[in-house]
Amino acid sequence: MTTTQAATGEPQTPTLTLTAAFEGIEGSYSHAVLEEYAARRGVKFVPVGCASYRAVAHAVLSGKADLGLLPIDNAIAGTIREGYDVLAEYELDLLAEITWRMEHKLLGVPGATLEGLREIDSHPVVLMECGRFLGTLPDVRRVPVPDTGIAARDVAEARDPARGAIASAAAAERYGLIELAHTIADHPDNFTRFILFRAPNAQGLAADFEPAENFAVRKTSLVFSVADSPGALGRCLSIIGEHGLNVSKLDSKTRLGASGQSSFYADVDGDVRDERFADALRALRSVTVALNVLGTYDASSAPPRVRRAPAVVVDVAPPIPPAPSAKTAFPKATRQDADARSRVMVGDIAVGDGHFVVVGGPCSVESREQILATAESVAASGAVMLRGGAFKPRTSPYAFQGMGWEGVALLAEAGRATGLPIVSEVMSVEQVERMAASVDVLQIGARNMQNFDLLKAVGKTERPILLKRGMAASIDDLLSAAEYILAEGNPNVILCERGIRTFETATRNTLDLSAVPVLRERTHLPVMVDPSHGVGVRRWIGPLCRAAKAVGAHGLLIEVHPNPIEARCDADQALTFADFARIMDELARIPSI
Ligand code: PEP
Ligand code: MN
Repeated sequence: MTTTQAATGEPQTPTLTLTAAFEGIEGSYSHAVLEEYAARRGVKFVPVGCASYRAVAHAVLSGKADLGLLPIDNAIAGTIREGYDVLAEYELDLLAEITWRMEHKLLGVPGATLEGLREIDSHPVVLMECGRFLGTLPDVRRVPVPDTGIAARDVAEARDPARGAIASAAAAERYGLIELAHTIADHPDNFTRFILFRAPNAQGLAADFEPAENFAVRKTSLVFSVADSPGALGRCLSIIGEHGLNVSKLDSKTRLGASGQSSFYADVDGDVRDERFADALRALRSVTVALNVLGTYDASSAPPRVRRAPAVVVDVAPPIPPAPSAKTAFPKATRQDADARSRVMVGDIAVGDGHFVVVGGPCSVESREQILATAESVAASGAVMLRGGAFKPRTSPYAFQGMGWEGVALLAEAGRATGLPIVSEVMSVEQVERMAASVDVLQIGARNMQNFDLLKAVGKTERPILLKRGMAASIDDLLSAAEYILAEGNPNVILCERGIRTFETATRNTLDLSAVPVLRERTHLPVMVDPSHGVGVRRWIGPLCRAAKAVGAHGLLIEVHPNPIEARCDADQALTFADFARIMDELARIPSI
């Protein structure tokens, strides 16, 4: 520990300088966390890189470092057991929780390309956080290494364009790497929680360092064990609850070396020095076989999470007509009994059966800026999924055919950046497998509704399917097409009315809203409506959205573009961001049935 002076000899406000241990080398996330935290607190940390979590604790306890930092959990990968276990094993004075958004980049040496990669190195937890993105690169080996700084450094030193590293933008800069892909974590709420600590009887400046930014927000971490018996965990939680304390994290594992016992990692809001908390711990001791209080720390710096519109759940069930009788050509699609309604889950979003969802996005993915801006805007307005075509079925072979796989990758990036599941059209049997690896919902377009080979192929996947009604297809034809998918074993079919061809020329198609109540009566499958293709004219989309919701659609598919007149596909029907936001507000006033 030292105090620094400006090199000019000018007297300056002394800056507290402390040594801080972390796992890894400079350029790792832990290092970035320490730097940012020090800057925020107006102190300076001299980094002490360590080879393991345990070595971080040793560095602090032996006086080699004033402070230590360890990660304890990640929003995607879950509890980082080793972090908790080291904090539990050694007596340490926990100071603060630091929550850090992990903005992972795929890095390579200059000249490397995504297509050319054969190996990707990173910390094992980070590899897990990017599971969906890595799933789209089946030929690339994933290599776990001790930390992301090491991954970046080793790739830079190897100068091999076939090797990539997942690390931060700061690591890219430090080791001279280029970014091959951004926003590659599965979800934007990708926070890792780190704990800053010191030795229990720290002396000198380490003892004086005051980490709390706000004493009002404190958290306490515990590890407790109970015998595997009915009600044992319930008793512990009741005690905590009865003392007015909130459990903000709970995770379990088998207690090693003690048969028939389980251990629980718990974070409880509050400070052990509070009387209420102390009482709760006393009571907890009498019902646990082991209780280890890791410590109380400042928890005031948790960042906000990504905004997500709440799902609309309807609690008034409409009167249900009698189920159709006996024989049918579509036994799996037919609603067999009065209250059978399927709910298709897209991630944690339910479609159908009382839930009303809106999917927004451009007709086609045109650029990174376009799809990211649209994704952010529709998410902020309350859309729960993002649409965008990468393979476009165009009437003319000379029209823009879509960005293809590059478009799929950009759409996937926009989905990860906003946390919105993505919907995109698959046009051929050959595309199905690769598409299913990247997108959350496979769309079958109107022109392909009776491409039976394609229906069978998507029926063999586990992805939800958005099946659009063909423009010259009857309701029976649509149900038969759905039956093809269901018959292959994929139960996750969402139907979509998108307008049919009639003699009317005032609108692009004729949006057959009467299909909604008919389908709700005849099938248990969710029914969505696409007013964009149905009417084809921007200013009439709002009224049809409201009508579709009022008539019982389970959701809407709406085209939105940052600059509609410039859209490369379906420009006349694309909504501006402002139009979309207004329509979402209007929809909120209409009850769904
Ligand atoms: C689309 O959704 O962009 C599309 C091509 O729709 P449809 O298949 O209904 O014409
Ligand atoms: Mn379109």
